Amino acid sequence: MEKLGSTFFKADILEYMSFGKWVIEADPGKEPRLYCDEVALRLLNIPAGNDPEKDYRDWLAAVAPSSLERLIAAGKHVAETGYGEFQYLWKHPTRGNRYIHFIGVRNVSYTDGVRIEGIIRDITDKVWNETLTREEMKEGLDAIQGLASEYVILHFINLETGSYSSYFYEPDISQKTIRLNSTEKSYYEMYERSIRSICHPDYLDEMLKLGKRENMIEELRHKKKSVHRFLGKTHENQYEWFDYVLIKFDPIDEEPTRAAAGYINVDQDQVEVLEYQRMAEGVGKIFDFSIYISLPDETYRVIRDTDESTPERDKNAFTYLRSRAKSIGKKNVRESLEKWFEVENVVAKLEKYSRISRDFYNDIEKKWYRANFLIGDRNEDGSISHIIYGRRDITKTKLIEIQKQEDAAAGEAIVRSLAKMYFTMLEINVKDRRIHVIRIPEFMNERFVVDGETYDDLKDKYVRMCVDLDYRDSVREFLDYPTLLERLRKQGYVQKNYLGQTEGWCRMTFVPVTNEDTGEIEKIVFAVASINAEKKREESIKYQADHDELTGLLNRTAFSRIEEELKNNTDRRAIMIVDIDHFKEVNDTYGHVVGDAVLCQAADILRHSFRKKDYVVRFGGDEFVVIFNECGDGFADRIRNKIRNINEVLQHPTKEDMPAFSISAGVTIFEDSYSKEIFKQADDALYQTKVNGRAGCTFYDDMMKTSVPQWRK
Ligand code: GH3
Ligand code: MG
Repeated sequence: MEKLGSTFFKADILEYMSFGKWVIEADPGKEPRLYCDEVALRLLNIPAGNDPEKDYRDWLAAVAPSSLERLIAAGKHVAETGYGEFQYLWKHPTRGNRYIHFIGVRNVSYTDGVRIEGIIRDITDKVWNETLTREEMKEGLDAIQGLASEYVILHFINLETGSYSSYFYEPDISQKTIRLNSTEKSYYEMYERSIRSICHPDYLDEMLKLGKRENMIEELRHKKKSVHRFLGKTHENQYEWFDYVLIKFDPIDEEPTRAAAGYINVDQDQVEVLEYQRMAEGVGKIFDFSIYISLPDETYRVIRDTDESTPERDKNAFTYLRSRAKSIGKKNVRESLEKWFEVENVVAKLEKYSRISRDFYNDIEKKWYRANFLIGDRNEDGSISHIIYGRRDITKTKLIEIQKQEDAAAGEAIVRSLAKMYFTMLEINVKDRRIHVIRIPEFMNERFVVDGETYDDLKDKYVRMCVDLDYRDSVREFLDYPTLLERLRKQGYVQKNYLGQTEGWCRMTFVPVTNEDTGEIEKIVFAVASINAEKKREESIKYQADHDELTGLLNRTAFSRIEEELKNNTDRRAIMIVDIDHFKEVNDTYGHVVGDAVLCQAADILRHSFRKKDYVVRFGGDEFVVIFNECGDGFADRIRNKIRNINEVLQHPTKEDMPAFSISAGVTIFEDSYSKEIFKQADDALYQTKVNGRAGCTFYDDMMKTSVPQWRK
């Protein structure tokens, strides 16, 4: 060390060191402090021995605005998780923009606040100078795409200046390396020479055009990644498929655009299919199962098979395809698919349409598939020599289709698959309004003809024979054809619930089937489903909402609704409030369980003592309300008798362990609009009963007539 010291100045050594140590402390209520070692001081241009609070401020002030927010977030991240790394752009007063990489660790033994310790590294040279190490480049690309291992060669390019560095990845044996040597200073020059020497003539123009500086920059202007597939020469001097991939690095501030460019030696079989597909109508999607079939011997090779359970492969392509169809549970789907997989059928149709496809549902896997046959190649005489079979999972698309109800063809398939849930499903042709039956219940067939009929004929019959009397008018209105199309265009689909004559609650739905090209509604699907189960659920929820759990009587929610009803009525009505006498004593003497039983008994007896059309409500605690909707002559006497009888019964409990008890009631009769005042009258009358000695009934009017009315305080 001493020897070294004699030849070098310490400052010179520091100049070459790029790792510095630092500490930031942030205590609540105090300004944060920054402490640096000598290298960090130099990197961050901080004069030694300055005060740490100022150092922190100066350092933070020099962070580029574009990095600031993320840097603060990174700091918080370290504080919260204990560790973090970040790269930020920092303006050095004399050296200009510097890229600083920091790694920070939280010191947990520091308890006054947050203390983060770490190292910083000036990586500007690495960012700028294109001589990154292999590892760093690979790492960089891994980080961007996780794809580095796929590339047979990588270039890191400054797209503005054309300077670049190369990274050759040693591919595994299955991968072919592209034949490239680079001696040029500019990437664009190197690219042009290389492409000329390796690219198949069919792709040369396209690839040369891409390699122009402006075009590359343009290509990445709005994209992070761009891929171009071409045939390139391998070291073995054979053409194979390669992807030329450009990946943009996110520019920081006013940075020049930089990118990584690489070549991938792609799965040749897959490309074959893609290319053929491109020829055969440009279906750009990759199959998850595909085979390449040779005619006339019907042998094949598998191009792609992602299935986990593939049946044993028969030598014959079509026998094999039929054996695969066996995994479908639904007999009719399976059989029709097996029929479709006949060589004569496929060839005949391909001659005519050049590509055939069909969607099918595998009920065991619960997936939708689209199966395709495409012409692979032709003989000199024009006859088909090769066929591609490809199948892909379209479940997701189907689901989206179901949601949007957009795709007419798919819509039809969906409608059919939904048919199971519906007991009636018809299709109406918009042009002539004729009905085509998809599915109807037997009784309808017995009662009237449907297929081929016009919508208007069916409509009347349907309403008459299937809809409950009370719902006929509204259903007829719903079925009105002139406004139906209008409604469907506006809403997508329309629905109505009604009570069926024999089927209980039903829901009818109209779904439009539109022409894919014109967007016009061509057909309308009419479906009727049973919603009894749904109704029951709905009713049970509704029942719970306005019934008291303990006694099963109507509850206070229901009472509010009844009060509204009472307001819109001018009949002679009455309201009675009932309260159990000395109920507290029952609870105290016998306990709450018996108390509850007493409440239930009171509820039962009240429920059974009055007419169906009167409402009996548990108002709360031991208080009940009875609403009488019509009160004819002699009403008051009848009620007085009833209360007397009730108390008579309650005095002689039939069940063991049940105490004798009584109830008090207060009633008011009214004819005008109902208001809270009416309720209070009944309550006052009840109070009067209690005062009078309980176990009885007081009418508000009578109470007012007595000479000394007792007012509730
Ligand atoms: P009064 O004759 O003056 O009405 O006397 P009372 O003891 O019946 O007095 P009050 O009507 O004020 O007492 C109501 C009691 O009812 C008070 C409360 O503990 C009890 N209670 C309220 N809800 C329930 C319930 O759901 N179960 C049981 N067991 N007791 C209840
Ligand atoms: Mg009471």
